[in-house]
Amino acid sequence: MAIAVALELPALPYAYNALEPYIDDQTMHLHHDKHHQAYVDNANAALGKHPDWQNKSPEEILKSINSVPEDIRTAVRNNVGGHVNHSMFWAIMKPNGGGNPTGRIAEVIKNFGGFDAFKEKFNDAGLKRFGSGWAWLVRSKSGQFEILSTPNQDSPIMDGHFPIMGNDVWEHAYYLKYQNRRGEYLKAWWNVVNWDEINRRLEQAK
Ligand code: MN
Repeated sequence: MAIAVALELPALPYAYNALEPYIDDQTMHLHHDKHHQAYVDNANAALGKHPDWQNKSPEEILKSINSVPEDIRTAVRNNVGGHVNHSMFWAIMKPNGGGNPTGRIAEVIKNFGGFDAFKEKFNDAGLKRFGSGWAWLVRSKSGQFEILSTPNQDSPIMDGHFPIMGNDVWEHAYYLKYQNRRGEYLKAWWNVVNWDEINRRLEQAK
């Protein structure tokens, strides 16, 4: 008999206030301890109804989202999606991050017309996402690097793409500090980007 493995909330790899002044301490507490925890709990509750799905990795589940049993598919989409998206999100940020991209990701970004053009296009994807969702740089299933956005907690993995980096544009990610000024949050976010981790993901995307 297969042993069901429950998803777990990963610990933040830095202090809750470590991304100040760009992302505030209270937002990080609520975002990580409440929002992400809820995605984990809801995902486990849904997958618990179909234990054969509990033995797959969350990425495998997202890849086969259309084969997930219908009675849990929406819950899995939202909550396994939320878990995978946020697990990436904490890791691709760090205190004293930002600055110019380094390593192989710098080469990828150069092909978007340079770092400023890349940031503008990425921020624009986040700004134009109506309601809640994410802005992404992905390696598409055809092997191209693309900037796109997804609604809600949809992951690019669901469409066969590999998410290299993504920014959360749900209001819960910025509203306490930036209120309705999503554009300001998007610009500030580049100060906490962890290029080392993004380069690590880029290697995985090959
Ligand atoms: Mn979020």
